Amino acid sequence: ARVEAGAEEGAEFFPEGTPIAVLTTQPLDRLLDYRAPAGGCWIGAFLEVPLGPRAVLGVVWGPGTGSFDRARLRPASRVLEAAPLRAEMREFLGRAADYTLTPMPAMLRLASRAPDLGAPPAARRVYRLGEGTPPRMTEAREKVLAVLEEYGGLAFQLSELAQMAGTGTSVVKGLVKAGAVLEEEAPRDMPFPRLDPSAAPKALTESQQAGADRLRAAVAARRYSTTLLRGVTGSGKTEVYLEAVAECLAQGRQALVLLPEIALTGEFVGRVEARFGARPAEWHSGVTQTERRRTWHMVAAGGAELVVGARSALFLPYRDLGLIVVDEEHDTSYKQEEGVLYNARDMAVLRASIAGAQVVLASATPSLESWVNAEAGKYARIDLTDRFGPAVLPRMEALDLRGEDMPAGRWVSEPLARAVEGRLARGEQSLLFLNRRGYAPVTICRACGHQIGCDTCDARMVEHRFLKRLMCHQCGETKPIPAACPACEVEGKLAPVGPGVERLAEEATARFPRARVAVLSSDLFGSARALKAEIAAIAAGAADIVIGTQLVAKGHNFPKLTLVGVIDADLGLQGSDLRAAERTFQLMRQVAGRAGRAEAPGTALLQTFQPEHPVIRAILTGDEEGFWAAEAAERRAAGVPPFGRMAGIVLSSPDVQEVFDLGNALARRDGPLRRIGAQVFGPAPAPIARVRGRHRVRLLVKAERSAPLQAALAEWVAQVKRPANLRLAIDIDPQSF
Ligand code: ADP
Ligand code: ZN
Repeated sequence: ARVEAGAEEGAEFFPEGTPIAVLTTQPLDRLLDYRAPAGGCWIGAFLEVPLGPRAVLGVVWGPGTGSFDRARLRPASRVLEAAPLRAEMREFLGRAADYTLTPMPAMLRLASRAPDLGAPPAARRVYRLGEGTPPRMTEAREKVLAVLEEYGGLAFQLSELAQMAGTGTSVVKGLVKAGAVLEEEAPRDMPFPRLDPSAAPKALTESQQAGADRLRAAVAARRYSTTLLRGVTGSGKTEVYLEAVAECLAQGRQALVLLPEIALTGEFVGRVEARFGARPAEWHSGVTQTERRRTWHMVAAGGAELVVGARSALFLPYRDLGLIVVDEEHDTSYKQEEGVLYNARDMAVLRASIAGAQVVLASATPSLESWVNAEAGKYARIDLTDRFGPAVLPRMEALDLRGEDMPAGRWVSEPLARAVEGRLARGEQSLLFLNRRGYAPVTICRACGHQIGCDTCDARMVEHRFLKRLMCHQCGETKPIPAACPACEVEGKLAPVGPGVERLAEEATARFPRARVAVLSSDLFGSARALKAEIAAIAAGAADIVIGTQLVAKGHNFPKLTLVGVIDADLGLQGSDLRAAERTFQLMRQVAGRAGRAEAPGTALLQTFQPEHPVIRAILTGDEEGFWAAEAAERRAAGVPPFGRMAGIVLSSPDVQEVFDLGNALARRDGPLRRIGAQVFGPAPAPIARVRGRHRVRLLVKAERSAPLQAALAEWVAQVKRPANLRLAIDIDPQSF
């Protein structure tokens, strides 16, 4: 009866002993036949099945394929305590697999991320901070309590808590005895608090209201469609799409809001609580195992009405999904670049089209893909052109560096420094933006010219002065800064070249000695929570000068910030990537949008050596329609996305000869591609030609928009036999081309 309650209407049931086909998470290219376990099972049910000597996780995918003698079939071991995957979800996984050319087991792994699936029944006890003080404190006990305090009130599993504290489980048990830690039942089956769609609505402006009404109508239609919600930074896009969420809740359906950066969830969750009277479920890497398990099961049971999360939240087993919001939809972090290569924006559209749900793509600077789809009428479009309240858009200006005589070791020009001084005098905040982590991007030997590189990647090591080490931004490897040059062995000649945010902070501290300087860079914070805390402190006014990487470009609200200084506006325009213009335009407009979000008007100053560059001109004039139209025309002429289709094939191996040989073999045997009119380019060294000791070459395939690309690619790569240690990854719609 328990399982029955979770099964959807019309689902197929397999009585005990009947043959079933099971999709497992093991890397096999076919379904496996078993007999239904004791008590029978529903289609979509999660099972444990024997495979050789092991027990593995699987899902009932249909009736047995009959490829085995029924009498010899092994029975599945047991049905797991989780709602069966619904037909809609099974279809989504299948179609996402077809689109991204991903094997089904890898898709199933994405869809079974409840921490208790696949593992033996998880501990049903969890641990949280108690009231008592232990009579005796030890260092280990302090560490455990510090973790619990940092995560304010959250509950952990025993092993998870011990691991995070770096202690043994007996320390936790000891604290339980002493009354400082509480042991209780896991809240797995506890629904999230109900959200009240009419709790505290805001009075919207006329244009916000018009947008909200259109979104509400689209959600109420209970059919798939996509709306591009375009609004300048600070126009109230969030307020508007929260009305779509309200409508979805009123319809009794579930809503998902995707954010590109977990540091943004704190502020967003607070806004949800203010609007709907309770907090939503969260799904991202900063959430504890216990909360993840609860979220996964409650999403399936309908006990979570709104999920706020990272891209992987698309693979949760929603019971009745009515709305997906993709906030900052242009953000490149929506593209998953490891494992299953997918773009969460595109998968959101696929998921919603199967679920009969609404998609809202929100951005101040949409992706060219979405802009083109809106122009073509495939997406509806809502525009919010004014900032809310007295806030106005920042004034934008170029600072031409060609005329500036900048002394060595300085990156803030005189005019920018004067602007910062002005803000300091008025007690306002300035943001200095530089999209480079670390102290200096290059360390060079002034005796021989050698640049220190990573041992296993084709990348330069970046000096991180806070860490006192050199770091590879490809593989994360670090090493101490050597005293002597590794090439010529001369001592004392290694010198940092160029600025990173840490070096810029050094300059700012020296030039503005009375200012409080804060650096926001992802590598400087040990945990998502620490980063959130720093962002909140800055918003509250704890810094005068904020120095940041692209982390600060994303949607944060710093009310006292009135000046944005872009240290190097030309940085993104180098290189041959066809998306460079789009990226730079988006990033610069986003960063500038951080200024003047409250009453005081903002200014954005862009340091550049090429103020006449068409992209820089478009950034300054804010002629977005003109910029997109020109970009679209260029892409159309080149036949590249979104007007044509592309796929990147990356081959990698420790053996450089092997990757080029296979790459050349593929390039020669291009019959399956030519048959669909597609062209193949390469092999060429991949943008990063060596990572973690593996050599990488890339082939690019370009096809007409209507060509059946996936089928041709599958046939094409299947022609060649791959050596065991050669990896092949197919990236549909690559980020760079
Ligand atoms: P966006 O997402 O477009 O950048 P937000 O939704 O974050 O804009 O709105 C910017 C600021 O203006 C926020 O602090 C928000 O609460 C406020 N705001 C926007 N619209 C309204 C409104 N109708 N009533 C009250 N505050 C609003
Ligand atoms: Zn490396």
